Amino acid sequence: MSTQNSEVDRQAVGWAMRWIVGLAFLTAFAVTGGILPIIPVSRQGTVQRPANRPIFQIVLNTPVPLPTTIPATPTPHIPHVGIIAGHTGSDSGATCPDGLQEVDINRNIAQRVVALLRKQGWQVDLLQEFDPRLDGYKADALLSIHADSCNVPGKSGFKVASAESGYAQAAEHRMVACISKRYEERTGLQFDPNTITYDMTRYHAYYEIDHHTPAAIIETGFMLDDRELLVERPDVVAQGIADGLKCFINGETP
Ligand SMILES: [Zn+2]
Repeated sequence: MSTQNSEVDRQAVGWAMRWIVGLAFLTAFAVTGGILPIIPVSRQGTVQRPANRPIFQIVLNTPVPLPTTIPATPTPHIPHVGIIAGHTGSDSGATCPDGLQEVDINRNIAQRVVALLRKQGWQVDLLQEFDPRLDGYKADALLSIHADSCNVPGKSGFKVASAESGYAQAAEHRMVACISKRYEERTGLQFDPNTITYDMTRYHAYYEIDHHTPAAIIETGFMLDDRELLVERPDVVAQGIADGLKCFINGETP
């Protein structure tokens, strides 16, 4: 019984092999004889078929639809800066014999700078001298506004300085350059590099804010000889500072 079955199986396999080989021969002759056309398969799977010819087509790849990319609408970056009105919430700062106080000059100018920058859509924080928000403060820039003493007759000029060392030094140097240049252009005051003190280069806020926040301090002028500018034309002073911050935030190198 089992011997007969295996004999039948062997015969069936033999016939099947003959058919397969025969079919392969026929196909080979048919193709070379032009009976069955070889049709190029394009990448997209579309074919240029000769008219009235049978199609013998093997699609080797199926078209993959390309991913549709939705054009990304860039979110505009809103500049975020902090303005410290020097000595506010703390003390009077420098004072003049007639009672003029530095803190009042600083507050007046700082408020105008904040208004100018907010007017162009920036996010601006008006900060006090020892504002609790300075702890770990993160922003695109931080500027502290001060004015120079009232007891140096014949002394005129402004200065801008950043920390003597820090993580954001490259940015801070550009920030100082921007504010110095634009402030000088706007106010006509001269930059005075000779009276930059540790009060400016080791300013307390540098050590409180986030290390990546570029920070600087400006002494807008002397309260005696530059008094007319500081007290009578605070809008010009504020515009010079705002111009400098715009220069920095816009990535300019003056
Ligand atoms: Zn001061």
